[in-house]
Amino acid sequence: MKLLFLGPPGAGKGTLAVKAVELLKLPHISTGAIFRSAIAGKSPLGLKVKGIIDSGQLVDDETTIELVKERLALEDAKKGFILDGFPRTIPQAKALAEFSPIDRVINFDIPDSGVVERLSGRRVCRNCGLNYHIVFSKPKKEGICDACGGEVYVRDDDREEAIRKRLRVYRDQTAPLIGFYREQGILVDVDARPPVEEVVENFKKALGL
Ligand code: AMP
Repeated sequence: MKLLFLGPPGAGKGTLAVKAVELLKLPHISTGAIFRSAIAGKSPLGLKVKGIIDSGQLVDDETTIELVKERLALEDAKKGFILDGFPRTIPQAKALAEFSPIDRVINFDIPDSGVVERLSGRRVCRNCGLNYHIVFSKPKKEGICDACGGEVYVRDDDREEAIRKRLRVYRDQTAPLIGFYREQGILVDVDARPPVEEVVENFKKALGL
């Protein structure tokens, strides 16, 4: 199954993706995670996108589309995948339809107020990418990832100014994708406001699992 996660930053897509990988045994492909790993490795791609990402803007379509096209061509993505953070613009969605049409889109729905609360408290493992929250989901030992022992840090784009910018970008450029996929009859809405266990149950129902 070729599955796509849509929703504003902070809707819980990354957290849900960890559960969905266990359930569906498909690779989780997150463009944000690929960019962050390129930045950490100081690769040419990482150096090119660091400033753009830290300020909460979008990387250009051409670079992002090429990156995803190459990633989806790898062997592990042949049987399906969970795509998270891509597409984020209509041109990206049109390109994806050409090289790898999607079966189902899950739209994680949450108002802006919920997003700000989640993102301003979010912490991420620098090593394995697992998400934490300073109130709802703390690591057992402060600053240390439960899963891999990596450093748990605040993403540069989870600072207040960048959060506001990312929300504006989402509403302007990414939210039109909801209509784009709804028209194709492949979009299912999932309420992303409840605690994660409940969202997982709603997600399973949405997929008929
Ligand atoms: P995310 O982890 O999905 O919140 O992505 C973090 C940042 O990476 C975004 O704010 C963008 O700057 C960049 N990014 C991720 N996916 C895309 C995409 N599909 N198109 C453009 N920029 C992206």
